Amino acid sequence: MKVVVIIPAAGLGTRMASAPSARGKRPTATKQFSELGGTPILVHTLRKFVASPEVSEIYIALRGNEIEGFRTRLEKEAKDIPPKKIHLVEGGEHRQHSVANAMTSIFAAADDIVLVHDAVRPFVTEEIIHDVIRAAQKFGAAIAALPAVDTVKQVERTSDGALITATLPRERVVMAQTPQGFRYDVLKKAFDEATADGFLGTDEAALVEHSGHAVAVVMGSARNIKITAPADMELAEFYLSR
Ligand code: C5P
Repeated sequence: MKVVVIIPAAGLGTRMASAPSARGKRPTATKQFSELGGTPILVHTLRKFVASPEVSEIYIALRGNEIEGFRTRLEKEAKDIPPKKIHLVEGGEHRQHSVANAMTSIFAAADDIVLVHDAVRPFVTEEIIHDVIRAAQKFGAAIAALPAVDTVKQVERTSDGALITATLPRERVVMAQTPQGFRYDVLKKAFDEATADGFLGTDEAALVEHSGHAVAVVMGSARNIKITAPADMELAEFYLSR
């Protein structure tokens, strides 16, 4: 059994657009290339998976025009990362398409494990990676998630803003993180069915749920943040400094 990792890193990061650095004339780096301590977030994330003894290969989905630049940068600035382990593939319009493109490049047996992890979650730990792999082997599909601490409201968007339509029982809600891990055959079937049905999900678990397969949940971490908005960078700098 081998473990293959897919890191979708082809997002445009439009929610970072209000960062002060985005107001200048030069084009801003997309969020996965924003630097933390002088190193792109994506490289911090990549190092976590390179360091895991359980991981054999890593596929990174990038925007087409960023592939060669990133390859050169890795060769020059990240000599500790073995190039043989890393495959750079082209991403797609949505996250789902980026992961789907990586899936077509993978050679795996039915019971190999595929982990999908957001490029912009650099504080994932070896323990979470390990726990997701074990649960994916056991259940076929598993994700890291955190119990909800806020009360969660379902809303309807109107031209006047949002209106609450329901309060979801908090004890029945978890906040999905990544890594999300799957047996290769389970994820392949989920992607094939999503494509056939025109189903678009915001994470891989949604596709697997859509295909009718149960998805287990393991404990994530409050530090395993997804760097999305400018304020997240301040928190990320703080975590990095510790
Ligand atoms: O934009 P979102 O929050 O869904 O991004 C989650 C991850 O998916 C990020 O690492 C982002 O780079 C990636 N992504 C991608 N291809 C897209 C959109 C997002 O690989 N078309």
